[in-house]
Amino acid sequence: MNKPAEVASKAELSLGSVPVWINGKPLSPAGRSGEVYNPATGQVAKRVPYCNEELIDRAVKAAVAAFPAWRDTPPLRRARVMQKFLQLLQKEQKALAEIVSAEHGKTLDDAMGSVQRGIEVVEFACGIPQLLKGEYSENVGTQVDTHSVRQPVGVCAGITPFNFPVMVPLWMFPMAIACGNTFLLKPSEKVPSASIRMAELFKEAGLPDGVFNVVHGDKIAVDALLLHEGVKAVSFVGSTPIAKYIYETCAKAGKRVQALGGAKNHAVVLPDADLEFAAEALTGAAYGSAGERCMAISAVVAVGAAADPLIRLLERKAKAIRLGVDMGPLITEQHRSRVKSFVDKGVEEGAKLVVDGRAPGTKQGFYLGTSLFDHVKPEMEIYKNEIFGPVLVVLRVNTLEEAISLINKNPYANGTAIFTESGGAARRFENEVQVGMVGINVPIPVPVAFYSFGGWKSSLFGDLHVHGVESVKFYTRTKVVTTRWPHQDTPAPGLNMPTLG
Ligand code: NAD
Repeated sequence: MNKPAEVASKAELSLGSVPVWINGKPLSPAGRSGEVYNPATGQVAKRVPYCNEELIDRAVKAAVAAFPAWRDTPPLRRARVMQKFLQLLQKEQKALAEIVSAEHGKTLDDAMGSVQRGIEVVEFACGIPQLLKGEYSENVGTQVDTHSVRQPVGVCAGITPFNFPVMVPLWMFPMAIACGNTFLLKPSEKVPSASIRMAELFKEAGLPDGVFNVVHGDKIAVDALLLHEGVKAVSFVGSTPIAKYIYETCAKAGKRVQALGGAKNHAVVLPDADLEFAAEALTGAAYGSAGERCMAISAVVAVGAAADPLIRLLERKAKAIRLGVDMGPLITEQHRSRVKSFVDKGVEEGAKLVVDGRAPGTKQGFYLGTSLFDHVKPEMEIYKNEIFGPVLVVLRVNTLEEAISLINKNPYANGTAIFTESGGAARRFENEVQVGMVGINVPIPVPVAFYSFGGWKSSLFGDLHVHGVESVKFYTRTKVVTTRWPHQDTPAPGLNMPTLG
């Protein structure tokens, strides 16, 4: 987390402060705050207030108060607000992408793509009347009918990571709100501005005050949300240790929870694959967004004769990436040194450093060049850890079976991909690999909004994935109603277990 400060310096006081958004209004609270950087310059650009328990309580109370009226708003009217929000997001796509690029560091084109993927969830949320339809069975017993309804859970909270400041929040709050819940978003304190802009746009779209609130901060703010009895469900996306903590804390407090964690995504390349195509795809998947993507490919598993030509292609492509043009900086100086220290470690461990990005040659900003390792072994730290930077490791195996076994032994299981011309090999991979999202000649298989996104094992704690129909399940509770309208022919109920037959 960025360093919090009680008292800002003179220079910092001249910087703008990102407000919180409570009950339809921006607020700039006094107290603890943190720095928001422009990673491309390395300079502090803004400050962000860190909410304390009192402010979180105020925000939860606003969401609690807004809930009954929003729950009772017909889904069709909620969908109309969503449609207006969709139009405003489309109009503001570039402005939002500029905020993402300025605070995260990814290139504008890459940011545009990520905002687009978030907007697609809002498109899906516009169909909420259809998605909320229940089931009906006539005459389940003599003169008895049964139907089910989906009702909102109440106040929901979302806690999001730094790497997708628009897309990941949009995975959560549009579906929660479309389902009739009210929402508190705690975006990453490193990239807080885009959430506030989305709150303004949602208000402009006609969303009643208190339905969507944005709070900022660190562990204190998160814990206050997790422990508040007014919060009924929590969605989290971030690193695995924090995801596990969020899951355990919420489960103990009796809250519904889905907590998505980190990743080490493997791509298997078989000798029959179009290696030029595979290398191009893998270069984008490994180094795009400087490797700061939970679906980045960070480990290539080269099978048999694929290895030597693939390494040559990857080397050429990794070296051709232009810093500041094709690839942006990392999020903070601290993260840059962590990633760099992994490259040092890989060399120490005996892996072959084919491309060395440790001296990027830029004087400002948190830039780091692309690194590529060959002959990496499963016991090495550069394989075992999620590095979350522009570092690609290549492991060599002899068979597809060995490749699948390697992937299935890894504790992470977010995404994976295979490159091959063989339908049989691809089918076997799809069937046997224990990973939540699989790509066949697709390096970053992020499901579209009408499917659900989520990994397995240490990449997701909970049962339901985000967006798509699983999000409707997460943000609603099912009620099943059994009905009888007695008249003179209705048999009288007795003491025995009713069988209705
Ligand atoms: P992070 O876990 O450090 O932070 C995520 C959120 O948790 C932030 O809002 C942060 O303020 C909060 N937080 C941090 N420390 C906390 C603590 N001790 N107690 C309570 N809350 C805390 O993650 P990050 O560095 O912002 O994001 C990068 C990580 O997110 C990577 O591991 C990446 O793989 C993961 N990620 C996963 C997915 C996915 O879909 N599985 C998507 C995007 C990012």
